[in-house]
Amino acid sequence: MRLADCRHWVFDMDGTLTVAVHDFAAIRRHLDIPAEDDILGHLAALPDAEAAAKHAWLLEHERGLALGSRAAPGAVALVRRLHARDVRLGILTRNAHELALITLEAIGLGDCFLPDNVLGRDEARPKPDPDGLLKLAARWGVAPARMTMVGDYRFDLDCGRAAGTRTALVNLPDNPWPELTDWHARDCAALAEQLDR
Ligand SMILES: [Mg+2]
Repeated sequence: MRLADCRHWVFDMDGTLTVAVHDFAAIRRHLDIPAEDDILGHLAALPDAEAAAKHAWLLEHERGLALGSRAAPGAVALVRRLHARDVRLGILTRNAHELALITLEAIGLGDCFLPDNVLGRDEARPKPDPDGLLKLAARWGVAPARMTMVGDYRFDLDCGRAAGTRTALVNLPDNPWPELTDWHARDCAALAEQLDR
């Protein structure tokens, strides 16, 4: 499948459509999470009350970040171009659904994604689990092999491979994971150029 023939696209949000602003080291310090632990995984293993309190702090912290989101280079133009072609567009993020909607609105893409197609950490098991991509595939009635997962990190690529979708890596100048990547572009603007090939 050529990239231009793909009509089912799923984007990671933070660091892919937006400029990464999460300071994960600061979040770990504030929530007393060891540097080597996965943040969501760590919270999931805590006693209920402590996990709830820390999730609440994380949500408030992220709400502030969401309101101040800035678009990554070329991201708005790429998504608008795909939207104009009437392709299916989804978001799969480890962020929360409501914050993803705030973020998309803040960068000017609020009208391009149906809220039901924006899957956050409460709508699907977190990447690299393929759950979210498989849910979108089922909802859209399409084989995963006809979908492309676009992301900026290994989790996105692993998730795509596990679900059987195509994968595109953006916003990293070099590709550390060529075996996991079908397309690599320096940013969304360069990925859009590949639509013309
Ligand atoms: Mg990301």
